Amino acid sequence: MKILSDIAALLTGMWITWKHMFRRPVTIQYPEEKRQPYPRYRARIVLTRDPDGGERCVACQLCSAACPVDCISMQPTEDTDGRRSAEWFRINFARCIFCGLCAEACPTLAIQMTPDFEICTRDIMDLVYEKEDLLIDGCGKSSHYNFYRHAGIGVTQPRGNGAEELPPVDVRGLLP
Ligand code: SF4
Ligand code: SF4
Repeated sequence: MKILSDIAALLTGMWITWKHMFRRPVTIQYPEEKRQPYPRYRARIVLTRDPDGGERCVACQLCSAACPVDCISMQPTEDTDGRRSAEWFRINFARCIFCGLCAEACPTLAIQMTPDFEICTRDIMDLVYEKEDLLIDGCGKSSHYNFYRHAGIGVTQPRGNGAEELPPVDVRGLLP
């Protein structure tokens, strides 16, 4: 009968309401109480250094190209030894959607997401971070990785001396 099914639906709804009345609240009284995000939470972006203390970023612009909202810009520069870096590096966090694509695209693991989500501010211009705001002293994730030990040909080691790098092939020796 329809009346019985209606009463059953009503009682089921009331049972669910009553059940939740005796559960512990899940509301967190932020900012007095803070929830610790997971380590892979995607919030504030940083630029990291390699284990030797050098800047990991080689200003290749891949992060900028991957960014769907075009909020990364930089100017490349080169040392006398050929090592590249960013003369200036800027991220506009007012546009950033924290998708993590920049970190995925980075070949040197320089740009990384951190769980620091407390970067709100009243002045929107304060959300434009320059290199000095982004560059940290540590390695962040993948603390042992040094891009130049793998691919620093002619910069930190001669060709063929990189980690997991095969010796160069003398193409003339392959000729008949
Ligand atoms: S997290 Fe996404 S939106 Fe933010 S800078 Fe990186 S690529 Fe751009
Ligand atoms: S942060 Fe990474 S992807 Fe972006 S310019 Fe630097 S090295 Fe290239």
